[in-house]
Amino acid sequence: MAPRVAIVGAGFGGLCMAIQLERAGIRSYTVFEKAGDLGGTWRDNSYPGAGCDIPSHLYSYSFEKYASWTRRYPEQPEILGYLEHCADKYDVRRKIRFRTEVRRAVFDGAHWQITTTDGTEAFDVLVMGVGQLNRPRMPDIPGMAEFEGVSFHSARWDHEHDLTGRRVAVIGNGSSAAQLIPRVAERAEHLHVFQRTPNWVIPKPDAAFGPLTRLAFHYVPGLQRAYREWIYRYAEGTLYPALSQGWSVGLLKQRALRHLRDQVPDPALRSKLTPDYPPGCKRVVIDSSFYPALTRPNVSVVTDKIVRVTSKGIETTEGTHEVDTIVYATGFRSTEFLAPMEVVGREGQTLEERWADGAEAYLGISVPGFPNMFMLYGPNTNLGHNSIIFMIECQVNHVMACLPHLGGSGPIEVRPEVMAAWRRQLDAAMDRMVWGAGCQSWYKTASGRVTNNWPGPTTLYRRLTARPPRPAYRAIGPG
Ligand code: NAP
Repeated sequence: MAPRVAIVGAGFGGLCMAIQLERAGIRSYTVFEKAGDLGGTWRDNSYPGAGCDIPSHLYSYSFEKYASWTRRYPEQPEILGYLEHCADKYDVRRKIRFRTEVRRAVFDGAHWQITTTDGTEAFDVLVMGVGQLNRPRMPDIPGMAEFEGVSFHSARWDHEHDLTGRRVAVIGNGSSAAQLIPRVAERAEHLHVFQRTPNWVIPKPDAAFGPLTRLAFHYVPGLQRAYREWIYRYAEGTLYPALSQGWSVGLLKQRALRHLRDQVPDPALRSKLTPDYPPGCKRVVIDSSFYPALTRPNVSVVTDKIVRVTSKGIETTEGTHEVDTIVYATGFRSTEFLAPMEVVGREGQTLEERWADGAEAYLGISVPGFPNMFMLYGPNTNLGHNSIIFMIECQVNHVMACLPHLGGSGPIEVRPEVMAAWRRQLDAAMDRMVWGAGCQSWYKTASGRVTNNWPGPTTLYRRLTARPPRPAYRAIGPG
């Protein structure tokens, strides 16, 4: 009998899982989605200018080529449209239970009892597809509740609120802020950008695809695949070595400094925008319109420390900036994997307890004591240089390879000694990477442990996830 599979989340990960099950003829799955629509991060992040800084020919499923991309780096509506296209083409939408939030998952010795807003149901397999960046992080600044204007997080954009002629504050200058600031600056009377730490920024070589190029992508055999392969190899061959402090680290820094020099003529502003930590330690911003926006006469970059939010604006150590709108581009609760769901494993331990020192999982997918549970885009599988969709496909392939092993001898889990060895290998590999020292970032916990990023080449990750599940997994007895 085909296993009953519960998939949590209808974003890139959950949809990929659902599609591969469909393609394998396994229809006994349900996708639980807390929102009223699919798309995950590409549904939630609809701020002006939202897009992906990885070209979409690579930031898409390898099995679903798409000749409709209008440019190299399309914006959010196109990416969301692609996901809707995939859901419809592979007919998985009918299996999604919208507005159904998974609150709790308990392994009862044989099955996963999944409690949603609608009740409790048993499944054989649990696949978590909630990603790392699904819960906005609001900062903890005194006085936020007293603000009398309009305020919202970048991932919860208030499209009803017209910014024309407003005095706006944007708190944060990461990838989200860098994309929305140019658009906000075009409308606002004045924009105050509150920067705590400068980021390294490199250009985004965007280009529109004309009708001929799109026709060629559609009709020339192998062209899309070759283009995808080229982007992949370029990212792997030049950006990964910079993050692992290899041959291209100097090149990355030079490129970013040249970009800054070319786009910001004012030496005082340039100095504010120059980081003092190695490039790649925090996510490098890939954008060509961010710096020009900061040089506009109606934009000021504020680097004074924020003291509090008042009813009328933002007070810093040097004075008050009166604004009527505050955009919190302050990122996500990235290290709290799977929260706020309560997940209870074989011995009654919750994942939260198990992960008290930071989340970890074998291949970022499996946790000892949590049989038949698999994560997509789980701990240590984020990338700073290449497409997460590549990683998600590796993970889904791994789950598909595990499914035939769930039969006679009962649920399977990764062996504790395999997990321990995995942790040692990760730690050793992490020592080479640039993320450890010199900066704070969403890649790591408050204690400094990098729980989010994959420290190796993605080619290695593909090889490791493609290995047969045994002997790393063991059966825990008849289900
Ligand atoms: P982020 O990179 O975590 O940036 C959050 C920003 O808010 C930082 O500048 C941070 O400053 C600032 N901040 C947080 N709390 C603050 C406080 N209390 N006071 C002042 N400043 C504060 O978040 P994000 O920009 O949303 O991006 C998150 C990730 O999403 C990216 O790194 C990327 O992986 C992904 N993303 C990707 C794309 C894409 O094109 N592929 C686009 C958007 C987002 P500090 O740096 O000092 O902490």
